Amino acid sequence: VPGGNPQIKPELMAEHLKATGGKYITRFPPEPNGFLHIGHAKAININFGLAKAHNGICNLRYDDTNPEAEEERYFTSILEIVKWLGFTPSEVTYSSTHFQKLYELAVELIKKDKAYICHCTGEEIQKHRGGPERGPRTACVHRDRPISESLELFEKMKNGGFEEGEAILRMKMDLENGNPQFWDLVAYRVLKTPHHRTGSEWLIYPTYDYTHCLVDSFENITHSLCTVEFMQSRFSYYWLCDALEVYKPVQWEYGRLNVANTILSKRKIAELVNKKYVFDWDDPRLYTLPAIRRRGVPPQAINNFVHTLGVTKSDTVIEVAKLDAFIRDYLNETAPRLMGAFNPIKVVIENLPEDYEQMLTVPNKPRDPAMGEHTIPFTREVWIDGSDFREVDDKDFFRLAPGKTVGLLNVPCPITCTNVIKDASGKIVELRARYEDAAGFKRPKTYIQWVAESPKHGSPVRLDEVRLFDRLFNHANPQDKKEVPGGYLTDVNPDSLSIEKGAIVEIGLWDVMDRWAKSSESKTDYEAMRFQLTRIGYFCVDKEADLGDFTKAKSLKDSVKKLIL
Ligand code: ATP
Ligand code: MG
Ligand code: MG
Repeated sequence: VPGGNPQIKPELMAEHLKATGGKYITRFPPEPNGFLHIGHAKAININFGLAKAHNGICNLRYDDTNPEAEEERYFTSILEIVKWLGFTPSEVTYSSTHFQKLYELAVELIKKDKAYICHCTGEEIQKHRGGPERGPRTACVHRDRPISESLELFEKMKNGGFEEGEAILRMKMDLENGNPQFWDLVAYRVLKTPHHRTGSEWLIYPTYDYTHCLVDSFENITHSLCTVEFMQSRFSYYWLCDALEVYKPVQWEYGRLNVANTILSKRKIAELVNKKYVFDWDDPRLYTLPAIRRRGVPPQAINNFVHTLGVTKSDTVIEVAKLDAFIRDYLNETAPRLMGAFNPIKVVIENLPEDYEQMLTVPNKPRDPAMGEHTIPFTREVWIDGSDFREVDDKDFFRLAPGKTVGLLNVPCPITCTNVIKDASGKIVELRARYEDAAGFKRPKTYIQWVAESPKHGSPVRLDEVRLFDRLFNHANPQDKKEVPGGYLTDVNPDSLSIEKGAIVEIGLWDVMDRWAKSSESKTDYEAMRFQLTRIGYFCVDKEADLGDFTKAKSLKDSVKKLIL
């Protein structure tokens, strides 16, 4: 163990081994006071991953000791995300389950003269801690009060005899120690907010410093893995286990994973949500894990990314662009390709027969037979993307223009635009084209995507709404006062969301959906229906999409409402 193995009394170790059979046990211990973010994905992978590597188990523990910040939706979302990432907690536990036991141990601690009731304010505590301006560190007047008095006052705290801030229980540690974690940490405080699980049963709540190591001990955790900012806490962690003579897990630290160019702070995300800059906490422009999920990112891409970082003590800061590039590389390998068009323009290929219809077998991913294939019709009338036609040609434009030839993806021969049909107002209604099937016709420079007009095959599939997302902030560091003097709210990109109406997709979409319906564990994982729209980008189905009853293949086709990037 880095920093030395903690000494554990043989009888405590024997008891621990009896309970666990020597199994490696870890836990992922989030505070249910917010949604998980990309940094937590590292913590989840380390805790569940190390346990698995050692044939051990890992618990999900809600560290729910602060009723003021906890909400039902956080509990639900945390478990969902852990499962989404592919991990199954051996047990789901709660620190609050142990409130009674924690309380009894606090009484024990007072009896051992290792804790006392203190009435200092936060400001007074800071003053006693000393420092360059404040002078030497000093004990407060309450530190030496008799044990019996602290016992009585703790009882009074428990029974509601003190208001918030009037009394706290402090551990009597070592004021001479250079480590601030020894300066009589707070163990209990008065809080009159009802608790999510225990209601109004308790009026005092244990702190993180007091609770964390003890609940690790109760759960027989072997390796208490945490981030490096808890390095100094390792010693207070051991101190408390030793003071109470309970089994003592080993603490190991690893580096945090932070993301630059975005906002992860709960308070700030709440502001973005409340002021309607984003839809919600899982808005795809954010980098919480629910947001990353809703954006259609496969959980394996996140896990793989975290694995590339390894388990070291150094903190990592990644740029969102680097994470996005990693995700795109992953999707490039795994997402099926479909053709689709925004602002579609109809092209009538005049030299094909009226009822022309050829079924084409197209690969789900070019040059990757393992990804399979699907069939689509090719017909006399097809739709192309609005941006692939220009009425006024120029020499750097290699797509369709009057008189110009372009390839249609997956179609044997190219087409040449022969005419532009407009309505009375001058708006383009459709293009006329010629199919160039003469032998030896020159291979075109560019191939564009297209979608057949074939009512018989239900083509095209029309999408009510496609949401295209871009960077949420204009500047690389929205929180940097020099870069953005007005603050991050003034840096929100007004074009970070654009909504496309009337986009179309080929019928290969049903194959993606069928595969999803057959494979997906949870029927709510809409975002797992992800695909690439060739030459446009990666998309998935949004949870707000109105998909009707997915289990009935027939209604499926009628009910696609919204797709998002
Ligand atoms: P935040 O304030 O960002 O929510 P936190 O430390 O309060 O972070 P917890 O919910 O207490 O978050 O975290 C649960 C576990 O995840 C802890 O073990 C914590 O060390 C770890 N963790 C939190 N943030 C990161 C991060 N950025 N990188 C790696 N691990 C993290
Ligand atoms: Mg925390
Ligand atoms: Mg947290």
